[in-house]
Amino acid sequence: MYVIFRCDCGRALYSKEGADTRKCVCGRTLKVKTRRIFGKAGSFQEAAEIVRKLQEERYGTCHFTNPVKRE
Ligand SMILES: [Zn+2]
Repeated sequence: MYVIFRCDCGRALYSKEGADTRKCVCGRTLKVKTRRIFGKAGSFQEAAEIVRKLQEERYGTCHFTNPVKRE
């Protein structure tokens, strides 16, 4: 099982459930147990996918113009 949470810098991260700490790319070391858990995933791939979605929610894709709609 993997848990998904967010760093103070806003980045979504995942960690194996039961792990004590997780280091973020921003340099902070987070205590997993003190973080608010956004979700859980059964596999590494699933966790990575949830993190990707959280990142998109946060940073959005609104900078990009929508492709031409197909009729
Ligand atoms: Zn961070």
